[in-house]
Amino acid sequence: MTELERHTYDVVVIGAGGAGLRAAIEAREQGKRTAIVCKSLFGKAHTVMAEGGCAAAMGNANSNDNWQVHYRDTMRGGKFLNNWRMAELHAQEAPDRVWELETYGALFDRTPDGRISQRNFGGHSYPRLAHVGDRTGLELIRTLQQKIVSLQQEDFEATGDYEANLKVYAECTVTELLKDGDAISGAFGYWRESGRFILFDAPAVILATGGVGKSFKVTSNSWEYTGDGHALAMRAGATLINMEFIQFHPTGMVWPPSVKGILVTESVRGDGGVLKNSEGKRFMFEYVPDVFRAQYAETEEEADRWYKDADNNRRPPELLPRDEVARAINSEVKAGRGTPHGGVFLDVSSRLPAEEIKRRLPSMHHQFKELADVDITAEPMEVGPTCHYVMGGVEVEPDTASSVVPGLFAAGEVAGGMHGSNRLGGNSLSDLLVFGRRAGMGAALYVDSLAERPKIAEADIDAAAADALAPFELEGGENPYTIHQELQQSMNDLVGIIRKEEEMEQALGRLSEFRGRIAKMTVEGHRQFNPGWHLALDLRNMLTVSECVAKAALLRQESRGGHTRDDFPGMNAEWRKKLLVCGLNADGSVNVDEKQQIPMREDLLELFEVDELKKYLTEEELPA
Ligand code: FAD
Repeated sequence: MTELERHTYDVVVIGAGGAGLRAAIEAREQGKRTAIVCKSLFGKAHTVMAEGGCAAAMGNANSNDNWQVHYRDTMRGGKFLNNWRMAELHAQEAPDRVWELETYGALFDRTPDGRISQRNFGGHSYPRLAHVGDRTGLELIRTLQQKIVSLQQEDFEATGDYEANLKVYAECTVTELLKDGDAISGAFGYWRESGRFILFDAPAVILATGGVGKSFKVTSNSWEYTGDGHALAMRAGATLINMEFIQFHPTGMVWPPSVKGILVTESVRGDGGVLKNSEGKRFMFEYVPDVFRAQYAETEEEADRWYKDADNNRRPPELLPRDEVARAINSEVKAGRGTPHGGVFLDVSSRLPAEEIKRRLPSMHHQFKELADVDITAEPMEVGPTCHYVMGGVEVEPDTASSVVPGLFAAGEVAGGMHGSNRLGGNSLSDLLVFGRRAGMGAALYVDSLAERPKIAEADIDAAAADALAPFELEGGENPYTIHQELQQSMNDLVGIIRKEEEMEQALGRLSEFRGRIAKMTVEGHRQFNPGWHLALDLRNMLTVSECVAKAALLRQESRGGHTRDDFPGMNAEWRKKLLVCGLNADGSVNVDEKQQIPMREDLLELFEVDELKKYLTEEELPA
């Protein structure tokens, strides 16, 4: 029998970013004993890095904004592949979730008349991102943590124990979900510091583990983004959708090499920054695709006027959705018009006074000064695409965030559907709040509906422990760091921003080799704080998600959002109707099935002009 500590809860939330914390608050408020488990320190989740803001159609900066406009923008950004019900709920509920944060103690930047300020971002028709300078994620996490502390204080009043109903297990990594028959019965993991095992006995688990960026070499993502939740869900029998869609943010740092990939927030462009090539040309005017032509300025004069008078001018093309801008930068660099370090120039220094730049973009000013010795108030930045966000994730039911496995829920970046083939900037923070809350409610309702608690079998615990310890059992195998580097390089080179059939075939060949090598890798030392062991366990997850990305990308024979095929350059309306659904075979390899999208509800379809719908939908999908 495996030696471990055991805890019993109603709901276990895996992940302490925005989605996990909002879910946990909801589950606790619904009266459920809730645990929050996170593999990093509490407060260090990826959400903390979010800079630009949280999209919500509050209409503070432009009273023409409303949920319908936000819905339309989100569907356009995702190239109509989004789960329309999720996009609807998101657009409708985001303003309330932002207000709610202020009731928890958040303080967003203000308009001159005292309302929550909202800034421009790519693909959003109006200034829509509620923000706190360029440190919005920090305020979001700080506030949610504060709310958790206040709930714990209430619990102390009632029970004499702060952690009676809501407890955080930080630096604790979940490696397996456990089931009783078809239904979730708990989660198994280890403490990072001691390596000792821990078991959570719970009928409901909410995955809020974030993304998968660490499978790619150049990424804005932090060390935690190893696709754990995606892989845990699959091993438990859930399905993933949209895994072929990876967002390459157009502006990551390209120099010096040690910081390559670190994000340069879209707020730089939202606040007036422009992209130029080595010839000094504002090249984005050359890259406005037909589907967006009517909404974007054709001249620099019109684009510049838009910053002061958005109602009577069209938007600058620097604010096209991210996939378009990333591809344009890629093309300029390939055509030999890149910067000395292989990016393009992003210039805000000639557009805003130095003091204004420091006020609006304090983190960017600091980041470039400290990391690249560049003063962005005096000279342009060098930027290029970086792997940033995964649109794909656990297939969930929109209203409750439940997966196909009873008792398993998912919210935030680990969930799929909401953003379709491409996420608009700012739509993640609002997604975390809207669907984090819904996941908390869904899990609480599920627990209430159970006639009896699922049970955990000792044999399943022993199997999870044996799997976790397997890398210690072999001698003379490869070290996980080497395999990780090769995996990242392969994904970057072969399944990156522009994809080709033969390269993806090659990637799949390499992934299958990695599978064999991972099964035989060795870690040195013992279980006490052993990063090599932690990476070995994470690698299995990175391999699974990489396989999902490569297999789905190979199958989808069109280009759409975060999936660009060199050999199939255009969007294809027949492919828009299809979702690619990833599941696991018994041997741990990935299978991908096609599934038809559910057609959009008629009243939502009516929010669009038929001429616009014709660009995305097949003839028979168009309204009569
Ligand atoms: P996270 O915040 O990443 O939290 C994941 C949690 O899961 C962590 O606590 C982690 O420790 C835990 N975890 C993972 N695996 C395990 C495991 N096996 N066991 C236990 N715990 C685990 N979006 C916007 O909308 N607006 C922005 O301005 C914006 N700016 C961004 C800037 C940067 C630099 C980056 C990188 C992203 C930005 N994004 C932005 C995207 C957004 O920040 C993320 O999509 C979002 O924060 C994800 O939140 P989450 O709650 O899903 O996951």
